[in-house]
Amino acid sequence: MLHPVIDQDRLARSFVELVKIDSVSREEGALCEYLTQRLGQLGADTLVDDAGSAVGGDCGNLIGRYAGNRKAPPLLLSAHMDTVEPGRGVEPVLKNGIYRSKGNTILGADDKCGVAIILEALACIADNKIPCGPLELLFTICEEIGLQGAKHLAFDQFNAQMGYVLDTRNPEVIITRAPAANRIRLEIGGRAAHAGAEPEKGINAIELAARAIAPLNLGRIDHETTCNIGLVEGGVAINIVPDRVVVHGEARSHDISKLHSITDEIVQAFQKVVGASASRGEEGVPYLKVDVQLDFDRLHIDENHDAVRIARAAAANLDRVIYTATSGGGSDANILAQHGIVAGVLGTGCEKVHTVHEQVALKDMVRSTELLLEIIRLHSEK
Ligand SMILES: [Zn+2]
Repeated sequence: MLHPVIDQDRLARSFVELVKIDSVSREEGALCEYLTQRLGQLGADTLVDDAGSAVGGDCGNLIGRYAGNRKAPPLLLSAHMDTVEPGRGVEPVLKNGIYRSKGNTILGADDKCGVAIILEALACIADNKIPCGPLELLFTICEEIGLQGAKHLAFDQFNAQMGYVLDTRNPEVIITRAPAANRIRLEIGGRAAHAGAEPEKGINAIELAARAIAPLNLGRIDHETTCNIGLVEGGVAINIVPDRVVVHGEARSHDISKLHSITDEIVQAFQKVVGASASRGEEGVPYLKVDVQLDFDRLHIDENHDAVRIARAAAANLDRVIYTATSGGGSDANILAQHGIVAGVLGTGCEKVHTVHEQVALKDMVRSTELLLEIIRLHSEK
């Protein structure tokens, strides 16, 4: 049964106001203030956690509590406040029902669609007494720069065990699977020497790195595993044999053992090359320093989990079908899962994100709001 309650104009107004507030990563403060006010008007209590100081930003994650009007387990709803660059001075233009920027910036639909949809859902609940259990609202900072806000979230403020992150494109999709990822840092130390006068005395760290990288199997390894060498920093001048290079890479897989083995392969390639040159050096050169960090754990939600079941039932009540999908990238939902909150990622309608051609159709935001409202209503019956 369709909710005829969504105020499309109010949703559009919210969205336009949101995208006009600059909020590139680490500078979400103004948006956080705006949302604190809006959430207060909608009857939610808010607080800001300390994540901002941990990431060097001007505010933390915004956490809201909405009492609802039914007794039910708490449900988490989340979107991220930050945007990528160029994201300053966004001027939204509406044409044929589609929002775009003027062309010189992103639009910020990623993820201000998600924020606007949550605000509209709350307004609809209040206006129309739609059944709603307690909601735990989360507007994160610094999602775009490595899920930093979620990683530093005050998880002790949450009781919800399930929820939804509004942060993918297609409103007919719920992402239930996303890979785990490792960040890999490899530092090679060699020995500097004058490249013209006595190159024999040098050990070229860049050359060693090149020999380690060249035979690596990079890119798509199989249907659920990828890896990349993405950043190489080294050398100081063209007439000096470089004594240091730092190589940054990543590996991702839906299968944790594959994640480990592809990571090991990369590390071992460097160990082999540096080890083979050890006889040329003394006093610990050449050396290799390896740092592998789990960037985010995988997201794997069972098809029978309530988060999926309720989303499917909600879509069916709207005469729609929602498809579960796999993502190649991580989102705040990966971090939430690591902390025991199972959250599916719902689509908001945004397209061509992270480009100046980013766009969203207002009707897709309406569809996403309809689905979210029906999810909230069904969840309140749990
Ligand atoms: Zn996003």
